[in-house]
Amino acid sequence: MLTSNYIGRFAPSPTGPLHLGSLVAAVASFLDAKKNEGTWLLRIEDLDPPRESDSAPGTIVEQLIAHNLHWDGDILYQSSRLDAYSEALDNLQRLSLIYPCDCARKKLPAVYPGNCRNKSSEKVLRPYALRLLLDTPVISLVDDILGPQRWQIDREMGDFIIKRKDGLFSYQLAVVVDDAFQHVTHIVRGADLLDSTPRQVHLMEKLNLPIPNYLHFPVVLGASGDKLSKQTHATPVSNQNALDNLKQALRLLGQQVPDSVDTVTLLEEAIANWNRNLIPKQLSVPLM
Ligand code: GLU
Repeated sequence: MLTSNYIGRFAPSPTGPLHLGSLVAAVASFLDAKKNEGTWLLRIEDLDPPRESDSAPGTIVEQLIAHNLHWDGDILYQSSRLDAYSEALDNLQRLSLIYPCDCARKKLPAVYPGNCRNKSSEKVLRPYALRLLLDTPVISLVDDILGPQRWQIDREMGDFIIKRKDGLFSYQLAVVVDDAFQHVTHIVRGADLLDSTPRQVHLMEKLNLPIPNYLHFPVVLGASGDKLSKQTHATPVSNQNALDNLKQALRLLGQQVPDSVDTVTLLEEAIANWNRNLIPKQLSVPLM
């Protein structure tokens, strides 16, 4: 029986199979939830069909099962949640926080300079994206690993996209709507997503949604010094090497590595030993 209100989640985008970096995210969020006697949910973030592979959701599910990382309840697919994202967009529109933008993304600097902020909507050409007007410049929070964080979001991020020109909802909006829908209390994810956090917290504030706890662990860097990612075709974790993959994930998270000979016992011991204080307090770690 559950004795805590902790709800965590693993939320992979199905752009390819899990690689070691995404396995670390699954392991960290799983162990933190289980150590806290919480629930661990699986959400497939299939929000961006052009970047996804049809086989990836099934492969990810098989990989998790092969590693004995069993989630609680049903899988939530973001592709089934478009009405909820539309509703959230309507709410933001009602607050006059959304404006259309026809700027060509490739020609823009990293921080959107607000070119379309004050353009009358008749002058905006189709197709256009919808951006969020950032009216609250500072977001701060205490990350469970990285400590106090503070962002001046208007200067560091700029008005960001909520719905893309191609009609797809942005990751930032969908994550916020679904974390609230699933009553997620603890978000445990890689520090590559740290700069998404203030955008998401800002959206939660605007949509009156509860703000979860955040823990960002270091992302795994490959030999080239880049983050392991599906886009750069990082090697998928092999189900045949599940035990070794889990041990490597524990090592990368700074945890004790039990010498168990099967994944079930390894995970039991890893839950018992899980210690957040051992996670390296840095943004990235090299692959060992
Ligand atoms: N879907 C995102 C990814 O695979 C993660 C989302 C999150 O953990 O907030 O990178």
